[in-house]
Amino acid sequence: MTIAIVGAGLGGLALARVLHVNGIDAVVYEREPSRDARGQGGMLDIHSGQRALREAGLIDEFYAIARGEGQDMRLLQPDGTLLLQHDTPDDAPLARPEVDRADLRNLLLDSIPEDVVRWGHAFESAADGVLHFADGSSATYDLLVGADGAQSRVRPLLTDARPVHIGQNAVEVGIPDIDRTHPDLAAMVGRGNYWVLGNGLSLAAQRNGDGRVRIGISFYNTAEDWFATSGIPFDDPAAARARLIDLLAGWDSRFTALIAACDDTIVPRSIHTLPIGLTWPSKPDVTLLGDAAHLMPPVGEGANMALLDGAVLGLTLAAHPNDFPSAVKEYEREMFERTGAAARMSADIQELLMSPDAAQKMLEFFQPG
Ligand SMILES: Cc1cc2nc3c(=O)[nH]c(=O)nc-3n(C[C@H](O)[C@H](O)[C@H](O)COP(=O)(O)OP(=O)(O)OC[C@H]3O[C@@H](n4cnc5c(N)ncnc54)[C@H](O)[C@@H]3O)c2cc1C
Repeated sequence: MTIAIVGAGLGGLALARVLHVNGIDAVVYEREPSRDARGQGGMLDIHSGQRALREAGLIDEFYAIARGEGQDMRLLQPDGTLLLQHDTPDDAPLARPEVDRADLRNLLLDSIPEDVVRWGHAFESAADGVLHFADGSSATYDLLVGADGAQSRVRPLLTDARPVHIGQNAVEVGIPDIDRTHPDLAAMVGRGNYWVLGNGLSLAAQRNGDGRVRIGISFYNTAEDWFATSGIPFDDPAAARARLIDLLAGWDSRFTALIAACDDTIVPRSIHTLPIGLTWPSKPDVTLLGDAAHLMPPVGEGANMALLDGAVLGLTLAAHPNDFPSAVKEYEREMFERTGAAARMSADIQELLMSPDAAQKMLEFFQPG
């Protein structure tokens, strides 16, 4: 039986690893030409996903690359008022440590035989047990797992659902080597997350393992075509930074100083999600995991769910080695329930972030009563 996994992201690799540990072969088809072809982005907060890493036999290796101090958090208002500060004690449990996404992906990649991942294979279509790739090549499968992320091309084999814009547009910028270049700003941001929540706007700065501070500025209740009308010239980073500073009019100068200190990497990100609680009638030879199955707002659940999906599907297939259709049904039942709950919780947090008094609401969220 040939298991074909499309996508070497966290979910697809967690599945490949759990299958490997259980003596089941699989092939992962990834469109990127190599593991380093594209920057993997910033930090991930890994909590429930730790169970997947335990099942994958990688929990000690995970703790070795996790940053416990990344759990530090500061919450502020645009006028500079500090509402909440949480500093992680050295001996605190690693309940929600941050990990560099590239480090986690490399951990998973290094845990499976090198020839499992076939780089440079962009999936285009599948029918009658044959996969077709953009370069004209093809391969056979008995079970196809779409682990190909938000814009999944496998998803249409199971459902017509498509990601929908949720009224959030974000711009990602960053300060490299902040300890050396801007020690004052480094001290202000601290070791973990630094959030400023305002009316319809937020700034989230986060220290990464490589000394870079990534900064996401989100504009809420904005239309899908907002970037075209925002006046942010993405092809002129210095002018784009100036425009971002204009858009934060009235914010404390310490926050705009963060933007002024950024380098020329500037990435627009339009936020989309799939419908909460999306399901589909089970098919015997194809299923989905991760963002392909349940794209959620980026509030800290997606990577955890993708890892868990991969581990649960791997374990379920290992428990039914001669009956993949039953395994797929059993996996989907568990996955729909677990990820539906995570999507509802993520939508609640998203609503809070989009509300006019987001800072106060977030404070109540962290300090109920
Ligand atoms: C800014 C940001 C911050 C986030 N922070 C967190 C966090 O702190 N905690 C958390 O839990 N989640 C977080 N998330 C969500 C998390 O990143 C995703 O939910 C997670 O990466 C999904 O994993 P995946 O394996 O399903 O998909 P992906 O990681 O997107 O991997 C999909 C893979 O499929 C490949 N692929 C795509 N199309 C094809 C094709 N046609 N053929 C072959 N290969 C293909 C891609 O190249 C990629 O390698 C964040 C998201 C964003 C945007």
